[in-house]
Parts: sequence; C-alpha cells; structure tokens
Amino acid sequence: MSSPFRTIPSVEAVLNALRKKGSWPHSFALEAARTAITKARKSVKEGAGAPDLATISTEAETILNALATPSLRRVVNATGVILQTNLGRAPLSERAMSAIAEASRDYTNLEFDLNEGERGSRHEHVRNLLRHTTGAPDGLAVNNNAAALFMALHVFAQGREVIVSRGEAVEIGGGFRIPDVLQESGARLVEVGTTNRTYVEDYANAISEETAAILRVHRSNFQVTGFTTQPDMRELSTLARAHNTLLLDDLGSGCLVETSEYGVEHEPTVRESLSSGAHLTLFSGDKLLGGPQCGLIVGSVELIETLRKHPLSRALRIDKLTIAALNATLMAYVEGTEREEIPFWHMLALEQKALEPRAQAWAKAAGKRGRVIESHTMIGGGAAPGAGRKTWCTALQADQGAEWLTGALRKAAPPILTRVEANETLLDPRTVAESDDEHVMLTIESLLGSSSRSSGTS
Ligand SMILES: *Cc1c(COP(=O)(O)O)cnc(C)c1O
Repeated sequence: MSSPFRTIPSVEAVLNALRKKGSWPHSFALEAARTAITKARKSVKEGAGAPDLATISTEAETILNALATPSLRRVVNATGVILQTNLGRAPLSERAMSAIAEASRDYTNLEFDLNEGERGSRHEHVRNLLRHTTGAPDGLAVNNNAAALFMALHVFAQGREVIVSRGEAVEIGGGFRIPDVLQESGARLVEVGTTNRTYVEDYANAISEETAAILRVHRSNFQVTGFTTQPDMRELSTLARAHNTLLLDDLGSGCLVETSEYGVEHEPTVRESLSSGAHLTLFSGDKLLGGPQCGLIVGSVELIETLRKHPLSRALRIDKLTIAALNATLMAYVEGTEREEIPFWHMLALEQKALEPRAQAWAKAAGKRGRVIESHTMIGGGAAPGAGRKTWCTALQADQGAEWLTGALRKAAPPILTRVEANETLLDPRTVAESDDEHVMLTIESLLGSSSRSSGTS
C-alpha cells in the first residue's frame, strides 16, 4: 500500500516539466518547484489526493511568473489623489528623466571641480538652484525630509531642548512621529500649549538656558479646525531672536509657488517661511516640489555650512541621479515653466471641463454600468490637507460589488488603481496620462462592457 505522499513528484521531475514550458533563471525555478511541492504535501496532509505532475508544474509556473515580474512596477493612478507616498509621490518631468538618463549613462563631475581640476563637493551642484528658487542664502539636499529634520536636530540641538507645540508633536506619516525623531536625534522635546491652541507666551515660558531651538511643524497631513490658535511665525521669530535660539520650520510640502493660482487653498511657501524669520526651513523634494525623493534644508550660509561639514551629511547624502533630477526640476521653477513641465502642477492645473469628455469615454466603455459624477481630486496626504480641485469621475457599478471590480482593475497590466465610494468604483482622469486612456477603456470594457469584445485585461 503506497502512501499518497510517495506519488508527489520530485523536485527534479517538476524542474524537468518546467524546462519544457519555458526558460527561467535556475534559482527561481528551484524555489517555485519546491514551493509548489510543499503546497502539494500540505493538501495531502489535509486529506486531499496527491496532485499530479501537470497540476504541480502549472502551480510552479504561476509562482515563477510572479517571481520573474519586476517587483517595482508602473501603475495607473486613477484614485484622484495626486500625491501618495504609497504610489511613489510625484512623477518626474521629462527634463528630470533625461537628466537622470544622462547622469547615469556616463561619468559625471559629481565630486570633481572642472575649473580647478581637483576634488570638488557634490553639495555644490544644488546650492545655486536652491538659492534662486527659495531666496535663501544657501541650501543642502539629503535623503528625505525625515533625514533633514533628524540632521538639523542632531547637529543643533543634541543634548538640549527643543520646544514644540502640542498641536504639532504629531505623526506625519507611516512611522514618522515628531517626538520619536526628536528623541533619536538626541534632543529633548519640550511640549507647550494644547492640541488646538498654543500662544507665543507658551513658547516664551518654556525658554530656558537649555533651549536649542523652537520647532514649527507644518500640518501637512491633517487639519485642526474650529477653536484653534497657532502663533504667527513672525512672533516666534522675534521671540527666538530675543533669546538667541534657533527657529526651525519643518514645512513638509515644500511649495515654491502660489497654490491659489491653481484654484486651491493657499499653501505656505518656502520663501514665506524664510521671510517670516525661520533660520532653517526644511521640506521634501517629492511633494509639492514635484521632484525626486530628497529632503531640502535652506537658510543662512553659516548654518548650512555647519550641516554640510558634519559627518551625518556623508551618511545622508543624495546620489548623482537625485541631484540630476532635482536640478532639472528646480530649473523649471527658475524659468517659470513649472505649470507645463512638472507633472504635479500640470495635473493640478487641468480645467474641470477638460476632464469631462475623458470621464464620459471611460463610462461609455462600461455600457449601462458606468456613469459620470462630479467629484474632487485631492492633492494628497503629507502635502496639503483638505486641498483639492473639482473634477469629473467615472463611477462604475459591478454586479459582483465595488471591491471585486477594484481588485480586478488592480490586476490589469499595468494595474489601474481606483477608489470606492458608496459601493461604486471611481476613476478620476485628472491623475491619469491621456496616453493611458486606451488601456483604461479596454480594461473597463473587458470587465463590464455589455458588448465585451476583448477578453482578458490586455
Ligand atoms: C512629509 C513630511 C515629513 C517627512 O518627509 P519625507 O520626505 O517623507 O521624509 C516631515 N515633516 C512634514 C511636516 C511632512 O509633511
């Protein structure tokens, strides 16, 4: 009497079967064969019959295809949220992409001074454009804004106190809590005021010999509404200067232009932060700036030079590809072409009426199951809370439910990401490139279209 386990094919047999199906790297094939066999054993253990070689090798092939697909992939963002950390934040401009290609294809003068013919500094490449775009005397780029804040606190406040309003000692995003960053930097947090109201006197009362800085944190991913008070930056600046302490402004979003020109609420700009008295202003490169992931610190030559010379600037330095993309992005602001060139501003600027025909065309692909509704595109968490623009969305209804449809769209190639509202699946054309319209329509049609012509999801 033979045990069903003995009829499970060997790893070698599955590998042989796979070889007939296609060609994959050996280590991938081996892992897939083993995983499929383990799964077969488990089902036998649970009382099912042993699957045959064909079933197991088909299973292995599915595992292999997943392994061989690049993990990081392009997706179509139809969620109606322009900036999402989960979706890689800001898409880059054409100019930034070309700059990356050029800087990566060949050698560069990354740390080489071409005038003097000697060793140079990578930090030199970003100073001028940061000066011209923010009005600050000097600037430095590091890995991200969390690193920028950590570094500023470590260098200027280690072992000393930093005063933060209770309304700003917050969690900004996954795993980024102001009190934790402060603690890791070696600075001591002194919280003042209350969650909704903090007055300049609260800061004044907390200042002592131990105070190294006052830290302001922009409420970039939430709003406190109603009965609220936050002291004006100018008042804080006067206070900080009277006590010879630093005023640090963690702006987060890093806006360089006037957002009200785009029909959304005013967002504090880097220039405003500096002109109202921040000694150092910190912000992200991939939020409202619309560039690559990095953290920017701007302020006086003396303070920036201190940061630049600190060993942490070596540990947190950005690479040549980021420098290339950042400079190409900043150049658009210098030239005043950000609205046309930088995808974030381009998408935000699109007129609502220009989006309606696209939403209509997508809805048509779903036949009776699609309609067009008025909705809002959001700028996104970590950038400008609550700020958004009117848009038109395609709303789809599936018999199997909105979650099923959202999941099916997510399995398209490239995946189409949507959101669910009131049991309808919504797609916002504002954040989708027109070159993806065809893909969106074919996918919708294949899933919902009454006269379904195509099968599968391209
Ligand atoms: C987003 C944000 C950060 C973190 O910036 P990263 O670039 O994601 O590291 C820090 N502070 C504020 C206020 C933010 O909005």
